[in-house]
Amino acid sequence: MRTQAAQALRRLRSALPGLAAAALLAGCALALSGGRTIYGNPTGAVPLELPEELGPWRGERVWFCTSNQCARSWLESDLLRRRREDAEDAGEDPAALAPAEPAALPCPACGAALAPISLGELTLLPDSTPIFRRIYRRPGHPDIMATVVFSGIERRSIHRPQVCLVGQGNLILDEYTRDTRTSLTDPSLTMPLRVLEITHPDKDPATGRVLSQSPGIYAYWLFNPEHETVHHLARFARMMYDNCFRAYRPRWGYASISIARDPARPDEWQDALDEFIPRFRPLIDGVRARLDAERAIPLRLEGFSAGANVYEGTNAPVSGR
Ligand SMILES: [Zn+2]
Repeated sequence: MRTQAAQALRRLRSALPGLAAAALLAGCALALSGGRTIYGNPTGAVPLELPEELGPWRGERVWFCTSNQCARSWLESDLLRRRREDAEDAGEDPAALAPAEPAALPCPACGAALAPISLGELTLLPDSTPIFRRIYRRPGHPDIMATVVFSGIERRSIHRPQVCLVGQGNLILDEYTRDTRTSLTDPSLTMPLRVLEITHPDKDPATGRVLSQSPGIYAYWLFNPEHETVHHLARFARMMYDNCFRAYRPRWGYASISIARDPARPDEWQDALDEFIPRFRPLIDGVRARLDAERAIPLRLEGFSAGANVYEGTNAPVSGR
């Protein structure tokens, strides 16, 4: 009898943290379900531009085919070059071509429309998710794709890449936190980045056999006006606390860097990252400071708030319709 009672007590004790968390969540949900005012301007424009020039790198836009059969991506300069070549092949004078808006050009491979956001992002992200992206190129160095995605009222905008990348057919070979230089002159100044070493098996569509591997590096961190972290759980805890107890719901940003890995030079990404981040990070510091200046802007929410998720800016492509 006594042992049974002791066992029951032990079970209760081990369940307590879970019960406490559930009670906290339920209390939060109840507190947040009525009308209330929040702060931090999560529907406003995101004051960020990714520049065309970043030190020795030139930044280009990238365009995505909207056909799921094709789903290729194109650098803007390649699209415009192909357009000139097509004109030449047709016996026209390329200099006489009207300036082209890449959004109006068809996919060179299949002819479908192009979009500034990939099909996967269009499908996965909630509507009105702002996405800033450029591919930075520098002769003799690997291309660097920099992407910054922001959450709004909706927080599903920021996905764990460990899930997303695998969903896109990548394998994660290794994962760790890496101290990365934030200064070109002082090597002691660093910040943590979460690094995923990945590879994408390129398969024969007919047989499914793996023909080759495309290895790459995916590095990221998360930030809001007040905090930075490389841990999604830390972001969740912070978001829950700010939302429940401070009525503070600023946008969170998710900055990621993708670099293809040349098997002949498997470690060149390390130098690329250490030279790129000191120039890239000030852009993020800038947008954090500008978002912080908007912390007192109030927003009235009624009931559950997903319907209030909008993007009021015009400076970034957004997901959804
Ligand atoms: Zn296409």
